Amino acid sequence: MSNRGKINWLGLLLVLLTMVPWLSGCATVYNPVTGKSESTLYSSQDELSMGKAVDAQIKKEYKASPDQALYSRIKTVGEKVAAHSGRSDIPFTFQVLEADQVNAFAGPGGYVYVTTGLLKLVTSDDELACVLGHEIGHVAARHAVKQLQSQVFYSLSASLIFSEERYAEIEKAVNLAFNLKQLSYSRKDELQADQLGMQYGLKSGYQPEGMLSFLKKLAEIEKKQPRLIIVPLSTHPVTSVRIENATAWIESKRRSA
Ligand SMILES: [Zn+2]
Repeated sequence: MSNRGKINWLGLLLVLLTMVPWLSGCATVYNPVTGKSESTLYSSQDELSMGKAVDAQIKKEYKASPDQALYSRIKTVGEKVAAHSGRSDIPFTFQVLEADQVNAFAGPGGYVYVTTGLLKLVTSDDELACVLGHEIGHVAARHAVKQLQSQVFYSLSASLIFSEERYAEIEKAVNLAFNLKQLSYSRKDELQADQLGMQYGLKSGYQPEGMLSFLKKLAEIEKKQPRLIIVPLSTHPVTSVRIENATAWIESKRRSA
């Protein structure tokens, strides 16, 4: 075999190898939390489609708060904090849900929700920035997509890569697999989201101590009115562990400042 032939075969092999993820519907996305590229079945566009489908489910269970002043406060602080998350590939959407339960959660694609019950506990913008920052942290680290991916367990065929059908397929899969009560993350993800929330808050000009004062109020509520804490907050790590984690993070930041 001539030398030239070998080079051609090598070239062809390289081209085929780079096409494998494309043919199997894989996308490479940048993870701003780890600073590394990751291979995923879902592109940012797919993540948005997933978020849209999850949002439709959430709207069936919750009513949006009619309080426009409250909503614009959440949007202002949320957008400021989200600007430091490194996820400029997706728009962030903030919604206030009418519910007594103390709850906040993040779906895929930048959809962040907080209940009016939680907002009653929040007494400063520092606390609000840290609470929203926690949810933004879940989005930045793609915790929701990863969780849905492991639940959905389906892969899209190559023919659906750029088509309308792809959204329909994603919507169908999310509707089958999605259950609000399952939208809970691992203990490791939660502690990481707390740290990211404080980090983004600090970069946006808020005090990370807001996380600590909010968590202390949460611990009080857990003791006095546990019925107000529902899934997924109840699957968060024990609040005392979150308090220790936040205290250690703040101390190390303050020492190095
Ligand atoms: Zn969380």
